[in-house]
Amino acid sequence: MDKWIVHKFGGSSVADADCFRRVADIVEGAPEARLESSPNPREAVVLSACRGVTDSLLNLVAHAAQPNGDFLAGVDALHARHAALAQALVSPAAAAEYQLALERDLRDIGGMLQTVRLIRAAPDSVRDVIAGYGEIWSTRLFTVYLRERGRIAGEVRWIDARQVVVVDWGPLGPAVQWSLSEQKLRGLVAADFVGRLIVTGFIAATLDGIQTTLGRNGSDFSGSIFGALLGASEIQIWTDVDGVLSADPRLVPNAQVIDQLSYNEAMELAYFGAKVIHPQTMEPAVARDIPIYIRNTFAPEKRGTLICANPTSALKVKGITTIDPVALVNLEGAGMIGVPGTAHRLFGALRDAGISVILISQGSSEHSICFAIPEAQATRAEAAVRSAFDTELREGQIQSVDVGRDLSILAVVGDGMAGAHGVAAQVFDSLARAAVNVRAIAQGASERNISVVVDGKSGAKALRAVHAGFYLSPNTLSIGLIGPGTVGRVLLAQMKSQLERLRGLNVDLRVRAIATSKRMLLAENEIDLSQWAKLLAEKGESLDIDRFARHVQADYIPHTVIIDCTASADVAGYYRDWLARGLHVVTPNKKANSGPLPYFRAIQEARRAAGTHYLYEATVGAGLPIIQTLRDLRETGDEVTSIEGIFSGTLAYLFNVYDGSEPFSSIVQAAKQKGYTEPDPRDDLSGMDVARKLIILAREMGLTLELADVAVEGLVPAALRDCSSEEFMRRLPEFDAEMAATLKLAREQQQVLRYVGRVDATGKATVRLTRLDARHAFANIALTDNVVRFATRRYCDNPLIVQGPGAGPEVTAGGVFSDLLRLSAYLGANI
Ligand code: ADP
Ligand code: ASP
Ligand code: MG
Repeated sequence: MDKWIVHKFGGSSVADADCFRRVADIVEGAPEARLESSPNPREAVVLSACRGVTDSLLNLVAHAAQPNGDFLAGVDALHARHAALAQALVSPAAAAEYQLALERDLRDIGGMLQTVRLIRAAPDSVRDVIAGYGEIWSTRLFTVYLRERGRIAGEVRWIDARQVVVVDWGPLGPAVQWSLSEQKLRGLVAADFVGRLIVTGFIAATLDGIQTTLGRNGSDFSGSIFGALLGASEIQIWTDVDGVLSADPRLVPNAQVIDQLSYNEAMELAYFGAKVIHPQTMEPAVARDIPIYIRNTFAPEKRGTLICANPTSALKVKGITTIDPVALVNLEGAGMIGVPGTAHRLFGALRDAGISVILISQGSSEHSICFAIPEAQATRAEAAVRSAFDTELREGQIQSVDVGRDLSILAVVGDGMAGAHGVAAQVFDSLARAAVNVRAIAQGASERNISVVVDGKSGAKALRAVHAGFYLSPNTLSIGLIGPGTVGRVLLAQMKSQLERLRGLNVDLRVRAIATSKRMLLAENEIDLSQWAKLLAEKGESLDIDRFARHVQADYIPHTVIIDCTASADVAGYYRDWLARGLHVVTPNKKANSGPLPYFRAIQEARRAAGTHYLYEATVGAGLPIIQTLRDLRETGDEVTSIEGIFSGTLAYLFNVYDGSEPFSSIVQAAKQKGYTEPDPRDDLSGMDVARKLIILAREMGLTLELADVAVEGLVPAALRDCSSEEFMRRLPEFDAEMAATLKLAREQQQVLRYVGRVDATGKATVRLTRLDARHAFANIALTDNVVRFATRRYCDNPLIVQGPGAGPEVTAGGVFSDLLRLSAYLGANI
């Protein structure tokens, strides 16, 4: 005889009339839904109650047991919903007949609820009977509907599972009485049956013939029980997602479908909260080696996830789940060391109190045992443990019983972890990088599951970070950018052009907030970088920098960075706080590093304490690798004796062009017109910008200098320091002769003029106009180049020189961008 196939459709698959149509198509063997080419002659179809109906029924019971509990409105709503479904799906005559039966059932339910109300309590047996009606109503209707469609070759027969499945409820849940159930099924379905059996999920009978259920979400279990009873060749569980996903899609939006799982993996995932399958589903299938497919009713053309004995998937880690809320109970005391039987007593007491333990961890010193339980059972568990160890607690052999609440268990599951090294390291590394604290750890000897207990509020973040760590989803960085001006604007454009490519490399940069000095734009997912300016203008709100930072640091995204593209000391004033709170900072803003030394140190301390990163390559020489070079030298043990350089593109330009043929003031004038200088050229000529850069490098060398320690010889004549910018430009020619004399002196000795900053290891720092030999490295640079010369113990005869364009929005933004990518790499991206 032909093989059986068993389908199970969950509540979400039979939510409304359209859903019933979809299910009927699949059951009739629609080609896109079939895994094989020809239709199968006999199949069983297990249905759940329509979505939400079991919940409604259980609510009715709970409600009726309350003082003044009224249930009539709830009963009416169930009537209306099912009657409407019938009218939409079947002929008027069939609908009327269906409705009659429905009303009979609802009267029975009303009677039972009335009793519940009178006795103010709902016995389990009553709750079970009422809860099971949803499956009866969905299957009865579907049976009639499928018959009327008339496309099934053979019979469409309704099966009431209470007449087939017999279970005995024990401490481990419902135990199926297999031979009895098989016998009952044989009595109902002949060996040569052809067609479709429409079977009620969720419900069964006890040995005494009383109706019971298989527990919440038990229809999956029904599916595999019927698979086993019928000796099916496969079981297909249909739901509303594409299969078993690597994480709960509501928490990790980019979770992926797992193509294949072993029974054990599926069991662990189900047990640890992957709600898509009921943990008990596996047992009957495993015993008979029946493959299970998890498939999407709403996308039947997809193959879904195959769960079988020997999957052929190369992934080490298959899925990551969380359960919450849980509580952690910790029993601690020297009296337990080396005393056999403590665990036995502990777990015996919990068993007697009917508490199921989710996770256990005991250190090898036996000084403490801790275990996790559903939080709802915490109070009872604590009482049970305290009373079991009453004597030891009084006599001090056990010091304490602590209960931690509002926790979450994260479980990482995969057969491939067995014998593989580095998986646990990867889990803990991801958690550490996301600043998630681990409260307890357990790994079964099967090595199929690593479980960690974390604070409930970091549960989602932990899940995303670990998921990202295994490349199941990209490393996501939540970015807030402040100051979309000259540099910030270009940076956004550069990022936009690279987003796709970087996502291909598992680096997911999400600009989720942009702020100007007055306004801010916040986006939950990410800001569309092709129209950020428009969005900021239309949807921006007034700036609240604290809210800005809190928004960027979303709990569910593993990493956060703020990019400060302003030149503001106020914004720099937030760095310490941000870094201490777990936000990384990337910036070309010189204010923090060249400001007062105590604040600079506080930033470094905050960064070290919180394990965050603070990157500022673009503060000196724009995109040129100056700070990184200096770090590399120092970190590899070289000693820097001096650093000198031309750190201002503007001043480099002025002295490259100034050859005496034109007065110095005209060159400044022309440069100002071309936009090479600041609006007030004194900002360049004062030398303070160069001094700030020098301080940044000096501190990077380990020196403790303040800006005031730099001897700055500026180029602004004392008489012109305080006048207006216009007057300055007008009167600058008065000083041309002085500059011409300096140039002449240099020329006579084959020298050139360059504006140079210099700091040495003794802490001497100067910024001034210097005469250099015409063959000096600084004498021959291109127009606005920056050049930096490191003299070190290793680079002594011939110094190390970094040279190139050191100003301009493109190269500065490029420098910030490379810091951002460096940050991603530090955080685990494999770029
Ligand atoms: P049904 O009504 O079909 O029984 P359920 O609501 O019981 O469906 O289970 C399916 C839901 O399980 C999905 O919609 C999804 O939101 C959730 N879910 C949780 N974890 C996972 C996971 N790891 N893979 C797939 N779905 C999951
Ligand atoms: N209808 C039952 C429930 O909601 C069984 C199921 O749908 O699996 O728990
Ligand atoms: Mg379900």
